[in-house]
Amino acid sequence: MALIVHKYGGTSMGSTERIRNVAKRVAKWARAGHQMVVVPSAMSGETNRLLGLASELAPSHAQSAYYRELDMLAATGEQASSALLAIALQAEGLPAISFTGWQVPVHTNSSYTKARIESIDDKRVRAELDAGRVVIITGFQGIDPNGHITTLGRGGSDTSAVAVAAALKAAEVLIYTDVDGVYTTDPRVVPAAKRLNTVSFEEMLEMASLGSKVLQIRSVEFAGKYKVPMRVLSSFTPWDIDVEEEARSGTLITFEEDEKMEKAVVSGIAFNRGEAKISVLGVPDTPGIAYSILGPVAEANIEVDVIIQNISKDGKTDFSFTVSQGDYQRAVELLREKVLPALGASEVVGNPNIAKVSIVGIGMRSHVGVASTMFRALSQESVNIQMISTSEIKTSVVIDEKYLELAVRALHTAFGLDKTEENA
Ligand code: ADP
Ligand code: ASP
Ligand code: MG
Repeated sequence: MALIVHKYGGTSMGSTERIRNVAKRVAKWARAGHQMVVVPSAMSGETNRLLGLASELAPSHAQSAYYRELDMLAATGEQASSALLAIALQAEGLPAISFTGWQVPVHTNSSYTKARIESIDDKRVRAELDAGRVVIITGFQGIDPNGHITTLGRGGSDTSAVAVAAALKAAEVLIYTDVDGVYTTDPRVVPAAKRLNTVSFEEMLEMASLGSKVLQIRSVEFAGKYKVPMRVLSSFTPWDIDVEEEARSGTLITFEEDEKMEKAVVSGIAFNRGEAKISVLGVPDTPGIAYSILGPVAEANIEVDVIIQNISKDGKTDFSFTVSQGDYQRAVELLREKVLPALGASEVVGNPNIAKVSIVGIGMRSHVGVASTMFRALSQESVNIQMISTSEIKTSVVIDEKYLELAVRALHTAFGLDKTEENA
């Protein structure tokens, strides 16, 4: 008998019919002799609906008091779906009990809307499991040291599930979603994308951080830190397929690199639409420039991603970087008001419609010419590269958002990732 954690995403919990299906699947696992903990997301669309109501009432929001209420509000989505799942399980004849984050409790820091889990108390959950119940724990939320409800950022139920699995030392966490595993790229954008049987933890971490929203990045970090075995699989298979068969389906996140030796140099293509580019033009090329520009940006809590500084001409240079689209206006205003006059730079210009496309693969470490294959494929499609950033196992380029899909498809083909007859 093993302790298993299941996580079901919004689409998987999207209607009472789907919730009944989840209940039947979980009951099947429990009846196969496993202790079951289930972490559901809110029903699909619910988190957006709730946050939409808040912005109808207060479109501008910079106050911590406002973010506190957003978390109070958004956390209810998972409370509802968890209770519904417990009800559905009881209707299947299986004892079940649901808990919110604060009831467990799941302790987090106080960063409303993007809180980090600090610890999870397992006593209450263990007692219920020992009493023979299926335990359902709301995804996406916890409680801060002052007793305020917090949420973990969009897509945060993945992180809740992995953190719960780590705290309970579960044998495995199964992330059930609306695709049947991790693909070489988003299968909704590239229909020729292939499902990967395994993906290394490091590659998954890069893919998640570079925009593949199939797993929230924090969940992958947790899995790595606590070595939690983790699998991504479909909740849309018939609920009554054989448990053993189901347990081997989808994509396993692996911690051994050896398995990958034979594999492709590039394992996947990730992309992120939501970025914006800002350039400060005519900056005097003196020491400390990067700090004078990015210091105030960091102080305003704006995260910077790709950065480039051009070579100088006549003692002046241009300095460009990307931020998320949500921070674009604020960053431009801040630079125009504070940095431009102080530095004597000539102008701040920007483009809020750019995207970042990245190739990811641990095989890139030992292969040369990977980046040039990438640049050739993009040039053949006349896609202009605005910025480049590299690390050991990834190369990212910033391009105009309107070329995003074209670029992802071209790269998918160029690196031999397209589905063929044999591997379809
Ligand atoms: P859930 O509600 O189950 O958490 P998400 O919408 O958060 O589901 O994540 C699943 C979606 O992630 C898929 O529907 C797919 O469009 C998208 N996705 C992006 N990149 C990938 C990838 N590399 N492999 C699989 N799915 C991906
Ligand atoms: N319901 C939350 C969201 O929509 C958390 C999740 O689904 O993982 O972001
Ligand atoms: Mg998700």
